[in-house]
Amino acid sequence: MEFKLDVHTHTIASGHAYATVTEMVKAASERGLELIGITEHAKGIPGTCDSMYFHNMKIIPRKMYGVEVMMGAEINILDYDGTLSLDEKIIDKTLDIRIAGIHDPCYTVGTIAQNTQALVKAIENPQVDIISHPDDSRIPVDYETIVDAAKENHTLLEINNSSLDCLSSRVGAWDNLQVMLRFCEDKKVPVIANTDSHFADAVGVFDHVSVLLEEMNFPEELVVNRSVDLLKEQIQKHRTIRKIGKQRCSS
Ligand SMILES: [Zn+2]
Ligand SMILES: [Zn+2]
Repeated sequence: MEFKLDVHTHTIASGHAYATVTEMVKAASERGLELIGITEHAKGIPGTCDSMYFHNMKIIPRKMYGVEVMMGAEINILDYDGTLSLDEKIIDKTLDIRIAGIHDPCYTVGTIAQNTQALVKAIENPQVDIISHPDDSRIPVDYETIVDAAKENHTLLEINNSSLDCLSSRVGAWDNLQVMLRFCEDKKVPVIANTDSHFADAVGVFDHVSVLLEEMNFPEELVVNRSVDLLKEQIQKHRTIRKIGKQRCSS
């Protein structure tokens, strides 16, 4: 399939990635992408940027080299209640795209039930559009529960190309993603593929994801990467449905 967007990438601002915003967007253009998301790690990951970085992202043009640019963050899920490592106001005011995921240095791995609850709470949060790399055997989760929550909340679960690479520190991603994607197929739950690039040469390269999807004969219509509009519709649905729910609860 043709991948028109890649919204999970990191630049030098994340502290352990090596290209600039300009280089990443240029690479996206050369790969023929229509949209790139730049999503630096939020605080908690050693060497990443401070809140001020997110505050000032408004100065970055949202179109460069013919590619739409979304400036966002990959926020840490800190605990089993799904607490996020970035202030709510910063998320609302500064981020075009909001990814949340569990990362080693800022999460104590729990039981399957606890890890699952951490992800479900994040999935239910209107400030989280996408759950990054829910694919690591070191942080075991119940995939059916997560897929059900994603369906109900229109939150996107990620197929992370970097997790599928042999260089990845994550464990068991091929097997775990197959389990997750079978549930997504059965329950008709859309997913998103991202590269999680930490250098420009990896932007828009979905080599492992393509193999996985082909091997599984996974339905293309459930992969939002085929259309920028589709991604935006999904995000809109997610943010709106939860807001309506919140208003009802507080009134
Ligand atoms: Zn991550
Ligand atoms: Zn990442």
